[in-house]
Amino acid sequence: MPSFLFPHTCILCNRRSHRAIDLCETCEKTLPWIQDACARCGRSITTETTICGKCLKRPPLYEQTIALFRYEPPISTLLIQLKFHQQLTYANLFGSLLAEKISHLYTKTQKPDCIIPMPLHLKRLKERGFNQAIELSRPITKSLKIPIDLHACTRIKSTLPQTLIAPNERKKNVRNAFHANDSLKGKYVVILDDVMTSGETINALCKQLKAQQVKRIDVWCCARAGSSDLFF
Ligand SMILES: [Zn+2]
Ligand SMILES: [Zn+2]
Repeated sequence: MPSFLFPHTCILCNRRSHRAIDLCETCEKTLPWIQDACARCGRSITTETTICGKCLKRPPLYEQTIALFRYEPPISTLLIQLKFHQQLTYANLFGSLLAEKISHLYTKTQKPDCIIPMPLHLKRLKERGFNQAIELSRPITKSLKIPIDLHACTRIKSTLPQTLIAPNERKKNVRNAFHANDSLKGKYVVILDDVMTSGETINALCKQLKAQQVKRIDVWCCARAGSSDLFF
């Protein structure tokens, strides 16, 4: 294959990838892909069940979660570089991989009406210059033809990252952090985020969307942390 057709370099080994993405086949195999996960919260599970004990006990407000990776190296490092060192090529790569996975899972079922990238507080957006969730959404919206909605939800409280908060404080940290208007009433939406830790941030946003009578909410994320993950 002529290399000008695929001028992509693998983000992990820096070799030419010979594919339409910045990841070679060899490195792709080494990534911590989630194989068996709870259909509801996306957490990696080892049992035969499809729904984890936590979700059975306390069902989340979202219907299902699709996550690509376990939140561990090198994914955790790459996502930190994306957020704090403007490595936007990573957003394009992960968004494309997510689009690929999603396209296989929604062949027989209805696709969501729109994607809501997890909103950033204006203060954080100004510091960073971009919202990584919007960047991750771009390849998905392009390939699956699902529009991005940037107007229905806003983050009204500037919170500390959940990964820096003790697990029992996470719910309190994001309480009343969001506002949603009534433009998505009766719609089927998906919340897209880079990392899902305890799921409390997403639940806080879901609460506002449900209050505005959103019909159904799914979650798509690049990496899913298990309940026992350490903070970084
Ligand atoms: Zn490679
Ligand atoms: Zn679960």
